[in-house]
Amino acid sequence: MPMSAIPGLTPSYQDYARCVHCGLCLSACPTYRLWNLEADSPRGRIHQMIHVSQGELTSNAQLDAPISASFVDHIDKCLDCRACETACPSGVEYGKLVEYARARIERDYKRSLFSRLARRLVFRGLLPRPGRIAAAARLLRFYQRGGLQSLARATGVLKVLGLADRERLLPRIDDTFFFSQLGRTFPAIGPRRARVAFFAGCVAQVTFTQLNEATIRVLTANGCEVVVPERQLCCGALAAHAGVREVARDLGRKNFAAFLHDDFDAIITNAAGCGSTLKEYDHLFSESEAEYSQAVAFGAKVRDVTEFLDGLGLSAPLKALPLRVTYQDSCHLLHGQKVRSAPRQLLRAIPSLEFVELPYSEICCGSAGSYNVTQTKTSLDLLADKMKHAAATRAQTIVTANPGCLLQLRAGAQLHDTAQEVLHVVELLDRATARQQ
Ligand code: SF4
Ligand code: SF4
Repeated sequence: MPMSAIPGLTPSYQDYARCVHCGLCLSACPTYRLWNLEADSPRGRIHQMIHVSQGELTSNAQLDAPISASFVDHIDKCLDCRACETACPSGVEYGKLVEYARARIERDYKRSLFSRLARRLVFRGLLPRPGRIAAAARLLRFYQRGGLQSLARATGVLKVLGLADRERLLPRIDDTFFFSQLGRTFPAIGPRRARVAFFAGCVAQVTFTQLNEATIRVLTANGCEVVVPERQLCCGALAAHAGVREVARDLGRKNFAAFLHDDFDAIITNAAGCGSTLKEYDHLFSESEAEYSQAVAFGAKVRDVTEFLDGLGLSAPLKALPLRVTYQDSCHLLHGQKVRSAPRQLLRAIPSLEFVELPYSEICCGSAGSYNVTQTKTSLDLLADKMKHAAATRAQTIVTANPGCLLQLRAGAQLHDTAQEVLHVVELLDRATARQQ
């Protein structure tokens, strides 16, 4: 039976051949830095991808090597942080390659029963359905606040089940969910300088309500009217990164309908991981598909909140915040979207704030979407290194630009006892923004 084609972007021979094996990406790759193994480097992974795609690249299916457990293991261990893209002088677009490799694995490789069930539950059963996200969050909140969490930790049952590390990385569920704000419009304070749509995320609506509210406050204080389109859904980033492309495509279509009916100056996100996928929705569709032009139009409007505010210029007066602050780059903002200076500029604009660079801030903290759940040990190893450098800065506050990184770094500050507060750039800006009476 012929295999069903993988929808969306398929890398060409030239995409792989750009890698000239120079090795300049090796020291930028978190997994290579940890293990010093060629197979877990960008160059090594690209070599393996070419091996399994020989048939496709030469139109001779007989040349395709089967997808082995070892290939899956090396591709699964990749954080998709795209630091190798930034480091590569030949312009290898590694993100495209690894996401296609994952789509191939999803189509051609049979994972364990547990893994298949878990992936089906998360990517198809949960993330695309806001009602189920809210229901699952209520259950988790009951676990966290109803005494069960303390009991599970005290009795050691989590350790017995091998879940202690994962449980420590769980987000705290909000008291009220951001879902209630969908469909609202928040007027600009003072003369209107822009009219924007706000992309609120999926799990962020039950774990980062305060961050979303702070983002809207900062935008309105700086003259933006903020519309929160009612029918928006998860961006599909986690599904796309895991190779579950048809789910990400379906979510893309629904978001086109939710956002493109109106002419916004920009579609704003405070989540770098979502922003990367929203900007690259065109990777999920082929040029011949009707949705491709919508994907391009959508992507052209998307701005990370830091990128947008830095471009617009802050108009709201800022109060002094006498804090020593460091900044961890979110991989999908720095390497995925190439936004480096905007968050730093915004932090430097806050009076009395002392900004200090974090050594190796361009290296992933280990959060990487669902990586801290699927590859918990590696994630915690990367986090330990990150917190060592963060502690050495003697910063009181670590700032970043993505909810996943916030969770990871907050867990890191607790686990490594650094006593550092961890905030999103807009949360610090919100704190510094002097409200007009
Ligand atoms: S830096 Fe680029 S060209 Fe060089 S080995 Fe890495 S991916 Fe290949
Ligand atoms: S995406 Fe990150 S972890 Fe994966 S190969 Fe590139 S640098 Fe290494």
